This record gives sequence, structure tokens and C-alpha cells, in this order.
Amino acid sequence: MKKCYILMKIRPALQFMVVISPSTVNETFPMGIEQPVVLSHVHQPYFAVTLQPGKALPHALRWQPPLTAQILLSRDLLSQSLQEDAPEQVLLYGETAKGLLPLVWQGKEGFNFALDMSAWLAIMQQETYRPVHGKPFYASLPFHYKKVPALFRTGAEYIIQRLPSRAARATLFTPFNIGGELLTHLWQGASRHGPCVILTHDMESAVAFDWIDPIMALEGEVGWVAEWMVIPRLYPIDHQALKRLLTAGHHIGLHGIWHSNAEPFLAPERLQQEFTALKPFMEDYAIQGYRGPGWFRTHTLDKVLADFFQYDLTVLDNDFCCPAMPGGVGSSRPFRRSSGLAVLPCSLPFEAPLFRGVEPEQLVSYWSPKLDYLRRTGGVVLINTHPEPGYLARPGMPKAYGHLLHILRQQGWQAMLPSTFVQEWL
Ligand SMILES: [Zn+2]
Repeated sequence: MKKCYILMKIRPALQFMVVISPSTVNETFPMGIEQPVVLSHVHQPYFAVTLQPGKALPHALRWQPPLTAQILLSRDLLSQSLQEDAPEQVLLYGETAKGLLPLVWQGKEGFNFALDMSAWLAIMQQETYRPVHGKPFYASLPFHYKKVPALFRTGAEYIIQRLPSRAARATLFTPFNIGGELLTHLWQGASRHGPCVILTHDMESAVAFDWIDPIMALEGEVGWVAEWMVIPRLYPIDHQALKRLLTAGHHIGLHGIWHSNAEPFLAPERLQQEFTALKPFMEDYAIQGYRGPGWFRTHTLDKVLADFFQYDLTVLDNDFCCPAMPGGVGSSRPFRRSSGLAVLPCSLPFEAPLFRGVEPEQLVSYWSPKLDYLRRTGGVVLINTHPEPGYLARPGMPKAYGHLLHILRQQGWQAMLPSTFVQEWL
């Protein structure tokens, strides 16, 4: 989640309000069951389907509120159906206007899927179900938007996250939608690495350097290290602080070039030029990973990143954070793009609920249902925080973060740096 002021967000928030309009859909599934929910910011063939557990779904994979389970689907993705009436074989149903459609069922040689899962995964991982992010107007302002005082930007974030349009969004793009996670888990099987946690910090301003030592101390209490994402063309780099991090076993990444939110929309040649100019800096600090500002992502960025980085952190499982529009790859499981670039989705933007009225001391219990579910699927909790006033540096937040780390440690999560995960598991 990024620090954005009101002009940055109000236009896209209004532009991409979700409209639930089942009456606009007259098409039917091949087996004659009407599709239920259309989302206005999603390309027309795709619609949201709520999942229901079948009798054969293992107890450990069942979910309770506040967790929800929805997936995107299209008629073209449906490739087969359960021919017999065998409810005891069904693991997952999709809710439709005319009844429950079996989506996953037990076959003689494993699970059968009503949808073409390879095609579904490709659509989700490439996010081709939605329009490509457009350049936000504030990226063309004559001054950097971060010149707006932080207090104002944080206040605006609070207001915007509580707008009715946000609250009204379908459960597809909320942090608690485990639909894609569950479907991916059934398709790919249990992860070999087990429950895994990855810690990342976006250093939005020079103030973040003052917070390195206290946060590093919290992480040191559980014996873990993090990746600290810096913005080399936005503020003077505190080289001593970065060297202290490296000495302590932490890693450094790039959180954009200027964090102007214009960079994902630059011509590929210009992006290549900028990253080439930054190469000596990236080599000095063994930088292998990138997270773009504001969660903006474009095809150009994907292509150029593959020439300079090992992995990209600019996606979420359920993206309710990017000011452009909702989206996400649907699952916490890391994957590789066809370019070879690894992608590690953020599944826990730790501070985001602060802007929906959740207090720091409530954050761990807020996230607990999702953590619990990802532990049961052997998923990846990639945590993102901002060591900044109003975020991780807000009163009560370091304590809440420390509490989260201790809980994860007690529950047996294994911590890994992004580069280690990529080397060992992708
Ligand atoms: Zn940022």
C-alpha cells in the first residue's frame, strides 16, 4: 500500500467503482447455469463466482468469516463438467443463479477441475482479466507528489480507504478472499516449502533510515532478517545504514527510481537507461529485487525488469491497494513469468487496515484468519511495511509488528529472504 494523497486516489476510486449487475448477463454456462456477478473493471468475459465447500473438501481447507472465497471465471475456461450426481466426490462448488456448479471433484486419479486450470492460472498471474494500469495524472505534475506533507497524505489515505465505493467492492479484491489460494492449492498440491514468511520494508523517505535500528532489533528478537527497499533518486542514501543492514544479514532492494509513479509508464529505452545508470549502486548493495511505486505495473516494466532483476515484488495476491484499480494474481504462491523474472506476491500489507479504522493493537488479530489459512495451505506470507510516520513508525505500530513476528515464530513459520526463496523454490 502506498502513501497517496486525495487527488491521487479519488479519480480512480470513482472511476473503477465495482458494479454488481447480474441482470446484464444473459449468457449461460455450457450446462445451462447462469453466471452470477459481473465486475465493471474486469474485462467482459470474466465474472466472479463465490465458492462453496463440497463434502470431499478436507476440513483443514474449509474457511470461516471473515474469510471469503471467490474466483474469476469465464465460460471459455470451463472445459468439463461432473457427469454424475455424486456430491460425496465434490470438493468445491461455484455458486450460480441456478444452483451449485461442481468446480473440483475427486476422480479416479486425483482431482478433476471443471475449468482449464493452466489457462486460469495464466490469466490470473498475468492479470489479463483487467485493463492495464494507466498513468495517473499526478505522475505528470510539475512537482513530486511526495512534496505534499506526509500528515495530509496519510489523512487522505484514511478517508479514501473508508469511502463507500471501497467498502462496496466485491469480496473478490479484499485481503480476506482465499478463493484463488484454495484453487491453486488444490491444483498444485501442498507446497514443498511449507508455511513461509518474507519480510519487506518500503523506505519512502529519508526518515526511514532513522527506523532501521529499532525495526532491525525487533526482527533480531526472532532471529529474522528483511529486505529494505530504497529509492535512490528520491533522497540521499545513508550508506552507513545500508552497510549495517548488510552486515546484519539483511538485504537491500529497489523501491523504484524516483517513486514518481511515472516510471512504469516510461518508454522501455528510457527505463533501461535509468536502470543501467543505477547498476553500480545496485551492485554495491547486491540488489536483485524491485518493487514499483504505488503497485503500478505495466507490460513494459515487466519486460525491462527481467534484464536487471531476479525478482519483482510489485504484485499482491488480492490487490485492494493500487490507486489505479483492484486486481491481483489471486494467490500468495510465487511464480516465474515467461521472461524468467520471478514474482513474489505481497499477501500481507500489514499497515493497510490502519486506514480502515483498525488500531495498531488490533492488527495482529485482524490478520489472524488469513495467516491461519495460509499456514494450513503452506502458503507464503509476504509482509510489506513502511518505516514512516503514520505507518510502521506510528505510535503502537513497532509493538504490533514485534507481536506479529513473535506469533509467526511461535507458529513455526520459516522466514526467508526473497532471493533465498527464489533460489531454493522457484
Ligand atoms: Zn512506495
